[in-house]
Amino acid sequence: MNMQLPADVENIIQTLENAGFEGYAVGGCVRDTLLGRVPKDWDITTSAKPQEVKALFSHTIDTGIQHGTVTVMQNHVGYEVTTYRIDGEYEDARHPKEVTFTSSLAEDLRRRDFTINAMAYSHSTGLVDLFEGEKDLREHRIRCVGNATERFSEDALRMLRAIRFSAQLGFEIKQETCDAIRELAGSIRKISAERIATELIKTVTSAHPDYLEKAYKLGLTAYVLPEFDAMMQCPQMNRNHCFDVGTHSLVGMQQIQPEKDLRLAMLFHDVAKPLCKSTDETGQEHYYGHPEMGAEMTKKILRRLKLDNDTIAHITALVRYHDERPELTDRALRHFLNQIGVALLPDLIAIKRADILAQSEYLRKEKLEYLSQLESLCAGILARNECVSLAGLAVNGKDLLALGIPQGKQIGAILKYLLMIVLDHPAENTKEHLMEMAERYEKNLEE
Ligand code: ATP
Ligand code: MG
Repeated sequence: MNMQLPADVENIIQTLENAGFEGYAVGGCVRDTLLGRVPKDWDITTSAKPQEVKALFSHTIDTGIQHGTVTVMQNHVGYEVTTYRIDGEYEDARHPKEVTFTSSLAEDLRRRDFTINAMAYSHSTGLVDLFEGEKDLREHRIRCVGNATERFSEDALRMLRAIRFSAQLGFEIKQETCDAIRELAGSIRKISAERIATELIKTVTSAHPDYLEKAYKLGLTAYVLPEFDAMMQCPQMNRNHCFDVGTHSLVGMQQIQPEKDLRLAMLFHDVAKPLCKSTDETGQEHYYGHPEMGAEMTKKILRRLKLDNDTIAHITALVRYHDERPELTDRALRHFLNQIGVALLPDLIAIKRADILAQSEYLRKEKLEYLSQLESLCAGILARNECVSLAGLAVNGKDLLALGIPQGKQIGAILKYLLMIVLDHPAENTKEHLMEMAERYEKNLEE
């Protein structure tokens, strides 16, 4: 079998072989190439020790020398070259106590998580597939290398990785591998929030975000995302809905582009519904206040997962405003744009559309029609450059100071007052007029 390798990778392997070492492309890049996908990056595994790798290439970076990894730079692209290794005994399902270098490719492949990730390739040897990884690729299956229970006991993160690869590739997880996850799910608590978040995000931004349901069924989200379990266990007796809250959110994720913020906002937009549920006299259920409470809960969850503050603010705002339905007048929409912040609009519309598409057919046409009108009216307001925020006001704080209004809280209050006027009447957004209004407002206060 002959596999296409990038010239840089051929070069690195050739250089290693010329010096008497072995070198192979390994792991994800081999898997993806066999699938006809373009690999994100190319990892190389070698019999050469890190110091020996460094001696062979002019530009290298010590990425993780103690784990055997040296980054080799070729034409400004970095390739991770890692020495064959055996992970020593695992402490507490998380960290190998030590890593030992080995001269055996087979031993290096045996420590890897899944059969489809445990293949190596070089032009001189061809494909090295010791665990039927190619067969599992063909049969669309995720299976541990060796005994699943043992492998998950060594490193609990692998359980979430199984879900993630299953979602990215649309593969089934082998029964025995599923059973082992169900048995060991609780040990995921030993894994750091950052590593958990990485796998969760890769899962929800994949081609099959709805496979998160597998993590629920196998008992993993009970530990890493208990809020999602509550959603899955919350039916919705409401004519707008045909799914429980969890399934509605999974379907919603399928209806929106695979971007982290959008998928996470979709996942969490109704997170507070289980807590906000009430039933009216006709038996219909309602969820008053769920966007506000949902925004609070989302912030907490994303903080727990150690996401950065900008990401948290963006996703939280989408959750907070996902259910806003302003009146379709220019005036109301200018207030709406001021409330949400113009920058949020495109993502918010995407969220609202996906939300509708994940609901029942009831009034769907009307809901989508409303949304299109909202979108085009907002586009008109922005195209006419109408003021929808303090930044768009024809006067600023400095102008008010020049009028003799004292520095302090009052400046902010006056600017807000002027903004409210301009949101109602865009024609009034001229400096002359607003200065006059400011003066009058100030005088009234003095009297
Ligand atoms: P991606 O396309 O997401 O980068 P990948 O297969 O390259 O997928 P990585 O997390 O980059 O995944 O890991 C590279 C390789 O290292 C894997 O293919 C696998 O062979 C091995 N590996 C990574 N993490 C583990 C782990 N926790 N346990 C065992 N082997 C692992
Ligand atoms: Mg990788």
